[in-house]
Amino acid sequence: MDDCIFCKIAEKKIPSKFIYEDKTTMAFLDINPGAPGHALIIPKKHYETIFEMPESEVSDLFRTTVKVAKAIDKIIGPDGVNIFQNNKTAAGQLVNHAHVHIFPRFHGDGIDFKWRRVVLDDDDLDNIARKIRVGME
Ligand code: 5GP
Ligand code: ZN
Repeated sequence: MDDCIFCKIAEKKIPSKFIYEDKTTMAFLDINPGAPGHALIIPKKHYETIFEMPESEVSDLFRTTVKVAKAIDKIIGPDGVNIFQNNKTAAGQLVNHAHVHIFPRFHGDGIDFKWRRVVLDDDDLDNIARKIRVGME
């Protein structure tokens, strides 16, 4: 896609702190890292969110993610690692080319991904699970 920054990185039209690539995926450091080793994994082909991606390319994306995360874990030596993926602006997606974050964590780094619990009773939970099950059929 013409005006997509991650397409340009995948096509090597703009530079990145390159880590890894294979036929369908690429990994590079985040330009605005929240920790040393904060990396992004992308499909080389443009998909806006993970929802448009064929299953095989999602598999490729997460296979590369685990491969790179293991190397980051070994080399950077964090106390933990968050792996996350934002879809659409409400979820914090800023770059509209699907990507996965690998985010090394350190005790006392002050980053808090916690949420406030919403009140849902047992029936609510049953209903939600049932609707999702039906939605998957
Ligand atoms: P999002 O909020 O969409 O999940 O995250 C997008 C990430 O892409 C951000 O963490 C941001 O720092 C990173 N980013 C944005 N533009 C560039 C760029 O040109 N190069 C690299 N390496 N990372 C970028
Ligand atoms: Zn793109």
